[in-house]
Amino acid sequence: MKKYKIVLLSGDGIGPEISEVSKKVLKKLSKNHNFDIEIIEKLFGGIAYEKYGTPAPDETLDQCKKSDAVLLACVGDIKYDSLARELRPESGLLKLRSALNLFANIRPVKIRKSLLDASSLKKEIVEHVDLIVVRELIGGIYFGKPRGHITNTKIPKAFNTMVYDSNEIERITEIAIKIANQRNKKICSVDKSNVLEVSQLWRDTVLNITSKDKNISLSNMYVDNAAMQLVRDPGQFDVILTSNLFGDILSDLAAMLTGSIGMLPSASLNNNGPGVFEPVHGSAPDIAGKNIANPIAMLLSASMMLKIGLNEEEAAENLETAIDKVLSKGFRTADLADGSTEVLSCSEIGDKIINEI
Ligand code: ATP
Ligand code: MG
Repeated sequence: MKKYKIVLLSGDGIGPEISEVSKKVLKKLSKNHNFDIEIIEKLFGGIAYEKYGTPAPDETLDQCKKSDAVLLACVGDIKYDSLARELRPESGLLKLRSALNLFANIRPVKIRKSLLDASSLKKEIVEHVDLIVVRELIGGIYFGKPRGHITNTKIPKAFNTMVYDSNEIERITEIAIKIANQRNKKICSVDKSNVLEVSQLWRDTVLNITSKDKNISLSNMYVDNAAMQLVRDPGQFDVILTSNLFGDILSDLAAMLTGSIGMLPSASLNNNGPGVFEPVHGSAPDIAGKNIANPIAMLLSASMMLKIGLNEEEAAENLETAIDKVLSKGFRTADLADGSTEVLSCSEIGDKIINEI
């Protein structure tokens, strides 16, 4: 029997509620598909700060490095906003990504047929949405140096640096090519090369690498236009390849096309070593502790973990089919409710999904 060791970081806010559902689902899947999964729970985020004074304790990071994959719920709360930047839960995320060298963030954005009516946009526009944002995750302006504040001037100043070297661009492009080859072989690279030197290097490097694969058709788009096109005609995109900052913004924008942020998973990967699989949404403090959160984004993240991280393709399929069945029967959490459907709590919809598995 195959044996996997995964680390579960349930974090803050709605994290523990959606993690509870995910644990049950993974246990059921492991039984049905004949593999053994050891789930090691560790503190991370605000809750880790409370206990250890840091959002990403070494013990947690070490355990993650030794695992086959990391399943993360979400971190953060407004109550930590007054802390020094490096103590905030979000900086724990940056630390985890750096520690595992997770340079590629993958966000599939696909409208589930059973939810077409829940989207805030027109059905004709969203029904063809099936795209993946491939975002560079550990470079660019979020990490570039120098950075800082200049306080000894009359007018306070602050600055950051957007920097990439061609190796960083190459390896993320290779991931995009790999994904595009499993799909429609179309990559749209998004930059701002009409204004930024770093974007010109991005554009040149992406062209150089993709031209080595004759199957791939590459297009380029400026980020401002890409934002507009995503709203105007999202069906035109397949794989969107972009840098850290632009990817952050565009993937949240793309997320809203599908109706609820409570439905979208993500994977952050390295070429070797464990990946981190987590929902796109944050810790939703406004609904935490009420058992009303939508656990599906985290379950779809678990599905990505099964597929990409553990190679348990069949278990992943089983889980996604179960989710679709529950949704098509009209069961919804509050974020997706439209009046005609039955509203279930987080744990209730979890149990329905478990029953379908
Ligand atoms: P972060 O900075 O961590 O990304 P955020 O400020 O973008 O967080 P979220 O925590 O993602 O915000 O929440 C945004 C809104 O979406 C909130 O109103 C929240 O209640 C809702 N929301 C987020 N996740 C879910 C979920 N799984 N189920 C239901 N509602 C959710
Ligand atoms: Mg957010």
